Amino acid sequence: MGRLDDKVILITGAARGQGATEARQAAEHGAKVIVTDVLDDLGADVARYVDGDYHRLDVTSSGEWNTVVERIVADHGKLDGLVNNAGIFRHDTILDANEDNFHLITEINQYGVFNGMVAAAKVMREQNSGSIVNISSVAGMRGQRSVAYVASKWAVRGMTKSAAAQLGQFNIRVNSVHPGAIETDMLFDLGTETIDRLVGAVPMGRSAKPEEVGNVVMFLLSEESSYVNGAEIVVDGALIAS
Ligand code: NAD
Repeated sequence: MGRLDDKVILITGAARGQGATEARQAAEHGAKVIVTDVLDDLGADVARYVDGDYHRLDVTSSGEWNTVVERIVADHGKLDGLVNNAGIFRHDTILDANEDNFHLITEINQYGVFNGMVAAAKVMREQNSGSIVNISSVAGMRGQRSVAYVASKWAVRGMTKSAAAQLGQFNIRVNSVHPGAIETDMLFDLGTETIDRLVGAVPMGRSAKPEEVGNVVMFLLSEESSYVNGAEIVVDGALIAS
């Protein structure tokens, strides 16, 4: 028996990085995985690999969310899990502010998660069950220099609590995960100097494989976490504890 047998799970931003890893892990645990992204070719490859479905889904579009969720229900009859994983990072500061940057990060990282919760909650409420996992960051637990990213990730943490409080009565669980330095393109794009500085501050002295975040996400999607609701789980090698 797999931990996620017969569950239908939608993952956003699953064409690469942590989302793609979580798609593979969820499939290994028995789930039917719905891979979504804006990178269609890569996303379709991941879906083929996990024997799942691929749908294009720009998380900023509530219309696309409705279409994709309706399609999942038509194809599979339900939606058990949602991982709001899609996100972008851009460096910006208060003193060197870029309004377009702020809007873009807010649209994808914050509004995208809101859209996902709204679309999934409608179906999960009818089912009287569901697990939503929102990927925030250590940037949602403390201050960092990139102000828009920090704002968006604190928003994800806050919306998670609000959603958990509203949706618990329908047996829907909503939790946030807060990764530290994870070995994906998002980290690699920062360049060696920044990565060395970041990883140098981690008490465990290393960055993490995407699977190490995925293991926590699998727990939250599974029945093993049946009474975990409104929680935040940090996966950062003790970075923010130090
Ligand atoms: P990544 O850049 O490899 O993957 C992000 C994915 O999101 C990509 O596939 C991208 O196409 C997709 N995406 C971007 N905009 C989208 C949109 N509008 N609609 C749908 N999909 C979109 O990075 P990752 O590390 O896998 O990031 C996954 C999540 O983890 C993000 O929310 C990120 O903020 C968070 N995170 C990452 C780190 C890290 O060190 N890598 C640390 C903390 C938090």
